[in-house]
Amino acid sequence: MNSEKRHIAILGSTGSIGTQALEVIREQKNRFMVEVLTSNNRIDLLIQQAIEFQPDAVVIGDVTKYEALKSALADHPIKVYAGADALEQVVQMDQIDMVLTALVGYAGLRPTLAAIRAGKHIALANKETLVVAGELVTALAKQKSVNIYPVDSEHSAIFQCLAGEWHNPIEKIYLTASGGPFRGKSREYLANVTKEQALKHPNWDMGAKITIDSASLMNKGLEVIEAKWLFGLQPEQIDVIVHPQSIIHSIVQFCDGSMKAQMGLPDMKLPIQYAIGYPERLSATFPRFDFFNYPSLTFEKPDTSTFRNLALALEAMKRGGNAPCIINAANEVAVAAFLQDRLGFLEMTNMIEECLERTSFVAHPTLDDYIATDAETRRIANDWIVA
Ligand code: NAD
Ligand code: MG
Repeated sequence: MNSEKRHIAILGSTGSIGTQALEVIREQKNRFMVEVLTSNNRIDLLIQQAIEFQPDAVVIGDVTKYEALKSALADHPIKVYAGADALEQVVQMDQIDMVLTALVGYAGLRPTLAAIRAGKHIALANKETLVVAGELVTALAKQKSVNIYPVDSEHSAIFQCLAGEWHNPIEKIYLTASGGPFRGKSREYLANVTKEQALKHPNWDMGAKITIDSASLMNKGLEVIEAKWLFGLQPEQIDVIVHPQSIIHSIVQFCDGSMKAQMGLPDMKLPIQYAIGYPERLSATFPRFDFFNYPSLTFEKPDTSTFRNLALALEAMKRGGNAPCIINAANEVAVAAFLQDRLGFLEMTNMIEECLERTSFVAHPTLDDYIATDAETRRIANDWIVA
């Protein structure tokens, strides 16, 4: 990065990734300038962030909170917008160099596409965007010469291992998975787990949706699809390895059999900083790894007959077309229902499987097809829950 500041828009600045990105930026004030902050409905935190970072614009998803936000920021030269369409508008502002997509779920797709169309580089946390429409998103990025820098720790690890190796063929990648809070448990046990148990991740403190996805291993399924699109891989080139200590964040195996791994303590600030600061490594005081606190690093095969969400996501990837979009929409409805105690932990998988079989398959989807698939799947999923 040259001495000029990088101008960043953060979509979802009030979430787990968003707040950690602002912690990084607070420590690297001479490197970054925040241009946009957005939240779905956490108005108090958004106001506080806006006053501290003085962005050019803020967006609140919930339009009923627009007036309150506007009056709270009346004394500041900050533009205030509301609603989903505003996200697509603000990412296009001239002064923005990079958009950090730290919002959760399908809602990330349209603003990410709008940012790419406007030629903005993407620091991508919102994996759902690549799961839903990876082919479309990566093709558009290529056409617009836009780089997509991964924030997800596993993908950041692979990206870091590939530095200086872009011309060398990848034989395989190994995505590591912690296994989540229910590693080693049986289906009988899983049938009765509560959301409180599922929300207790052993190694990472994250938003609710990804924490449930980590407990069900759907997160790893989504990440395999994310990796396929980010690194242009075939499904059989991606393996999942359970590594409960979350120290090795992923591994690349090259065509000569050599393997490179990236490791460090589990702290999302590191991959966030690498993505927004690329190609530089910026000095940071993050806690350092101590080998003697981790005398053994262990590896296991994932149990896909207990954690069937992972198998379903891999199946959707192999089917291609809109199948991953179906899995994503069904999973978003399932996780929301599980968090409202309307669906059991294992019922989530049954419902997702039913959606994959019942939603119309489209082999070569357009953006309109993805939008229709998302809506159709959500209808089928909601009917399944009430039935
Ligand atoms: P979170 O729930 O903590 O935060 C989500 C943010 O998005 C909030 O600011 C919220 O206001 C906003 N938001 C939610 N719904 C929205 C909508 N419909 N429209 C606009 N904005 C909306 O989530 P998180 O844990 O920070 O995760 C964000 C993304 O990053 C997810 O895609 C997740 O998979 C990915 N990710 C997170 C982590 C992590 O450690 N938290 C790690 C890897 C990847
Ligand atoms: Mg991850």
